Amino acid sequence: MPQPACVGCGNCCSGCNFGAKNTTLMNYLPDAANHGAQIFTHAEVSHVERDGERWRVYYAPNGKDAPGEAGSVTADHVILGAGALGSTEILLRSREKGRSRG
Ligand code: SF4
Repeated sequence: MPQPACVGCGNCCSGCNFGAKNTTLMNYLPDAANHGAQIFTHAEVSHVERDGERWRVYYAPNGKDAPGEAGSVTADHVILGAGALGSTEILLRSREKGRSRG
């Protein structure tokens, strides 16, 4: 995403009038969506497993505004970005359910 340079005005707390501050509108997410990525919110990943040539990611609704029920989605590639503890927790649960290396 194109992003103007910071001018160092120091008004970050009230929002950036120069478009230099990273927000969800300025990061990689809009670019990914524009290239076909699906974005899920209010979902908590329980574990991942191999499903043929693809990956299957299991999730459950998270939070009172979460729509739908527990389910899963498949993907060619999965990148865990749940932080050091969250990603490790997902990997450990995946191992408990039989996921090994790969
Ligand atoms: S408000 Fe924007 S331009 Fe000003 S210091 Fe913060 S990021 Fe930089």
